[in-house]
Amino acid sequence: MLTDIEIARRAKLKRIDLIANELDIPEEHYSLYGKNIAKVSHNYINELQFKEDGKLIMVTAITPTPAGEGKTTTSISLSMALNKIHKNSLVTLREPSLGPVMGIKGGAAGGGYSQVLPMEDINLHFTGDIHAITSAHNLISAVIDDYIKYDKLNIDPTRVSWPRAMDMNDRALREIIVALGGRKNGYPRQDGFIITAASEIMAILCLSQNLEELKNKLSNIVVARNRKGEPITVKDLEIEGALTVLLKDAINPNLVQTLENTPAFVHGGPFANIAHGTNSILATKLALKLSDYVVTESGFGSDLGAEKFYDFVSPTFGLKPSATVLVATIRALKYHGGQKKDELNTPNTENLKKGLANLQVHVENLKKFNLPVIVSINKFYSDTEEEISIVENFCKELGVESSVNEGFEKGSQGAIDLAEKVVRLTEKESNLTPIYNFEDPIEKKIDKLAKNIYRAGKVEYTSSALSSLRYLKKYGYDKLPVIIAKTQNSISDDPNKLGAPKDYTFTIRDFELSAGAGFVVALAGDILRMPGLSKVPNAVNMDIDEKGDISGLS
Ligand code: ADP
Ligand code: MG
Repeated sequence: MLTDIEIARRAKLKRIDLIANELDIPEEHYSLYGKNIAKVSHNYINELQFKEDGKLIMVTAITPTPAGEGKTTTSISLSMALNKIHKNSLVTLREPSLGPVMGIKGGAAGGGYSQVLPMEDINLHFTGDIHAITSAHNLISAVIDDYIKYDKLNIDPTRVSWPRAMDMNDRALREIIVALGGRKNGYPRQDGFIITAASEIMAILCLSQNLEELKNKLSNIVVARNRKGEPITVKDLEIEGALTVLLKDAINPNLVQTLENTPAFVHGGPFANIAHGTNSILATKLALKLSDYVVTESGFGSDLGAEKFYDFVSPTFGLKPSATVLVATIRALKYHGGQKKDELNTPNTENLKKGLANLQVHVENLKKFNLPVIVSINKFYSDTEEEISIVENFCKELGVESSVNEGFEKGSQGAIDLAEKVVRLTEKESNLTPIYNFEDPIEKKIDKLAKNIYRAGKVEYTSSALSSLRYLKKYGYDKLPVIIAKTQNSISDDPNKLGAPKDYTFTIRDFELSAGAGFVVALAGDILRMPGLSKVPNAVNMDIDEKGDISGLS
């Protein structure tokens, strides 16, 4: 089979203005970024407010192997297949970050015959949204050090909680000292860099429906404490206007197309551990107005992205999802059954059967949200018929619908069965039931999640977690929704507990405040906000020839 980029290069792209036309978007409401990318104005949604929403289908996965299980690929193939069976559909995805593109995972524009295009641009600088977020993020940092130098706001230099940001995996910048060089450079203090996708501004951009909301949320970011221990916000710095100026275009959803020329929004890319992990709310809401079936992807496994989409994003914005697609791979199931990482292509029914416990946990968890679930088995070349039927039979026993998806190899044709089943599942009225209520006290929210989703027996708080909790309560931040930051490699808080761990102690180590984005992050593990590169980074495989053809991008 051809590589992703070879397939992408052979594709016949439609001009994006023609795609916008097909969606009936008036010319004055989009701007072209070349022939194949457009930004649709965020204001356009106001004109559509009386139009009925389409159906929302959320794609999530079992606990993934480090390579990802194919949520993006599945989302794209499903949306293309829905169009193929004459149900008009739009897929909404997150924007790739350069860190993983150059690092271990590669791009995030799907794979095989289920990709969004132009994949090079989407994976590289795209429309500059991530650059704009980086600039806005670092403006806050620059102003903080400026105010420390000029002794404004009584900022405590040891309590600045706003790091610097860049869009690269660079572990050497995790912890640094800034402002060395004497009086003219300010006061030296400890600082660090995070990757832009982990910036609170990324989360805020994805949770703002217009410029006013964006500005309000930016104002509320807490960046430091003063010497009395009180929170200092962006509003205190008086730069929420400038930040909004920097983000005025980044807020507009990016319209692109799939390999089969169906429409796609690729917009915003927050992580699903320290933030909510789905593309911008504007892209999703706009898509719901423009098509009958919107397929969207949430980050990592269902214990992270799907949980946050159902407990936080959907209730906050009044979204009414109709069904959940749970992506599973034979490879990951074998991995959960004890198979070694470098032997995942070798058939092994024994490990596969053991690993099914992980699928079961995700199915049971998702059913708790009261939406219909379908397991989409993302077929890899190495999967055997026997292995596939083991998973299918297991789904029957669990009483959950399943479909084998060959979208990677065959495009929409490989996902027709999935699309037909999804349409049937969404015919019934559905009613999302979140696990916690916004009104629950923070400890109760965490307790419900730990026991219902992560399958823990009890929850413990470290002393630093308890001290942070006191601060949150003192300033009234404890009423916000809670985002659990934990490993994506296990449903528990321990990356080494594969399969279906239960009855263990779930430990909250600390809390962090994302007051602008509107949530409290409960840290249940060491969460890296600045990844590192691997020994042989993907960058080593990349090249470009004289014609401008890129290789090594997947
Ligand atoms: P996720 O969104 O869950 O992280 P992706 O859809 O991005 O996963 O897929 C992760 C990687 O696996 C991509 O490089 C993709 O091309 C590849 N991939 C996905 N599905 C298949 C498949 N069925 N066969 C081979 N490779 C696949
Ligand atoms: Mg993905």
